[in-house]
Amino acid sequence: MSASRFDPKPGEPYARCSEDGCGFVADTKEQMSEHSSSTMKPTGQTSGVTASGHSYRVENPSREDAIWREVMREADDALESAVQEFVDSVYRLHSREGVSLDELTVAVKSVAPSSEWSEAWAEYIADEDEDDDDEDETDTGDGLGPQLHQDTALFGTEAVSA
Ligand SMILES: [Zn+2]
Repeated sequence: MSASRFDPKPGEPYARCSEDGCGFVADTKEQMSEHSSSTMKPTGQTSGVTASGHSYRVENPSREDAIWREVMREADDALESAVQEFVDSVYRLHSREGVSLDELTVAVKSVAPSSEWSEAWAEYIADEDEDDDDEDETDTGDGLGPQLHQDTALFGTEAVSA
């Protein structure tokens, strides 16, 4: 197998700590993870994230991470198109067949495979309310896939959840 864009650049560090004044540079993922957990401090929260270490930015991802990121991008794109197609089709039940938006919203909430779908629907009808027939094709739906991004490994921090 020849070198590809997924391979890490040889001789370059894996990640840098992004904590002000820290300056820690890690050659490997393990070193970064160790630094992050050794700097773990309580966040003061009693639920959710209760402690977190220094956060960092991955500058030279491992092959595994780079492939993961690319596949994640494909998944995001596919999901975004699917969600868009879904809300367009559902909206047609309102615009062409007169089903009320409230009725559709109830159904969307119970059918949607994840919150992204119903959030996209809510955004869509909010936009339609504002300016009725403005087809905004460039709006690719910010905020789609927040859950997918949580563990992106390119911006990381060790965290402990309650
Ligand atoms: Zn640090």
